[in-house]
Amino acid sequence: MQEELFKKIVSHCKEYGFIYPSSEVYDGLNGVYDYGPMGVELKNNIKEYWWQGMVQLHENITGIDSAIFMHPLIWKASGHVDAFNDPLIDNKDSKKRFRADVLVETEIDKMIAKADKEVDKAAKRFGESFDEKMFRETNPRVLEYTQKAQDTETRLANALKTNDMADLKALIEELNIAEPDTGSRNWTEVRQFNLMFSTQMSNTGDDGKLYLRPETAQGIFVNFQNVQKTTRQKIPFGIAQIGKAFRNEIVARQFIFRMREFEQMEMQFFVRPGTEMDWYNTWKERRMAWHRSITPAEKLRFKDHDNLAHYANAAVDIQFEFPFGFKELEGIHSRTDFDLKSHSELSGKKLQFFDPELNEHYIPYVVETSVGCDRLFLSVLSNALIEESVPDAQGEDSSRTVLKIPPALAPVKCAVLPLLKNKEELVDKARSVFDKLKLHFLCQYDEKDAVGRRYRRQDAIGTPYCVTIDFQTLEDNTVTIRERDSMEQTRVSIDEVAGIVSEKTDLSSLLEKLV
Ligand code: ATP
Repeated sequence: MQEELFKKIVSHCKEYGFIYPSSEVYDGLNGVYDYGPMGVELKNNIKEYWWQGMVQLHENITGIDSAIFMHPLIWKASGHVDAFNDPLIDNKDSKKRFRADVLVETEIDKMIAKADKEVDKAAKRFGESFDEKMFRETNPRVLEYTQKAQDTETRLANALKTNDMADLKALIEELNIAEPDTGSRNWTEVRQFNLMFSTQMSNTGDDGKLYLRPETAQGIFVNFQNVQKTTRQKIPFGIAQIGKAFRNEIVARQFIFRMREFEQMEMQFFVRPGTEMDWYNTWKERRMAWHRSITPAEKLRFKDHDNLAHYANAAVDIQFEFPFGFKELEGIHSRTDFDLKSHSELSGKKLQFFDPELNEHYIPYVVETSVGCDRLFLSVLSNALIEESVPDAQGEDSSRTVLKIPPALAPVKCAVLPLLKNKEELVDKARSVFDKLKLHFLCQYDEKDAVGRRYRRQDAIGTPYCVTIDFQTLEDNTVTIRERDSMEQTRVSIDEVAGIVSEKTDLSSLLEKLV
């Protein structure tokens, strides 16, 4: 694990106002975080890019913003009351709580890593002539590790599918899994734990129990007919939504990767039954293309689900290589007609579509894309945070911390810097440039410290352009514009600045990669 990078991301987020622990003055609240001034801008840009990629680029996708509180029967129909569980296990010595399935998955990762290590060693030994495929198929050690990983994966999937918590416990014992911090193997039994938070609404009759939604998708399902009627969409069509979701995660120890309050960006695509696998493949590709527009391809991969959820007939994750390994960033699920059918049954309202081409009513099938906004945020920062050595003003080697965020997602697009702060003419001119540019995008005005230090501050928050106002500006209305990644400075007329910055930082520069 690139522990150093991960630590740096966490401290960088705090230092530059991206993310703070929630309720910090009261020593924080586990698994909950607040976004600071830079963080909220980056997060809004990520959300806007997703929204435009869905709603603006597809004529047949529209958005909604449904409430977090919903009728409690929704969660009965969706299966969350009965089945939205994770297997929990406690260590009796350390008193720490773990997800039993994650303990086993970590063990599987170790087996795969051992096999990979053998392959790497052999590759070094044999050099050019190394045939990796053949080696993997014949080397006894590699075969042993790989087989063990596969067997364990199958057994885990079966235990989860059949709700066999005793076998999960047996698996942990057979694999001799120890508590990572203390080495203790003194485990409790495994039991299922429901992840929904509940609260109370005083006037709903019975006991007034409500749930905080654990996913935004159900708000889309129960509005399916409202949206279809008001937009007069024909199948296939989609509904997109961005909103908060809440899960009482058993373990929330990986910064914003696993939170108890987080944000989801989900799109449910309603299709004719029988066409769902085609649409599933289409959305797999479209979503991967979207991720690749902001993330290097080698850091992304598909991972099929071994253990399908109760509602799905196919499911795949898009994984990103976080500093702690490849992990789920987005899920793409073929959800069949499960949700609309259950809501029809429990509510007694027919949630159907009349297909004029077929001249018949049916319950549409659904392909869902579901991505966590906070995980995306973490992936963007993991790619972007770089320390590099660069020559300083005297040509000496020095280092800089720079966030190479895709310019269209950067919190601040342009910084305006007067060369000196005690020269009124420079300050006035810089202020007038700032006032013009702020009509187009988010700018920062900064006059404190030497220009070099101001550049570094902007590098650290990922600002793609810095514009410096100097004495020549007063004579000929030109400024220097410095580009973040190359650090190249060019002299341009003030009138050109807005155009140059917009061209690189407008979301259209990303959207055009998708069409
Ligand atoms: P995991 O297996 O990591 O718990 P999941 O399969 O339960 O995730 P989904 O129900 O498919 O996740 O949710 C869709 C997306 O929502 C995930 O791909 C992830 O990006 C995001 N997400 C889910 N749970 C959390 C969480 N606790 N904190 C932050 N993001 C989350």
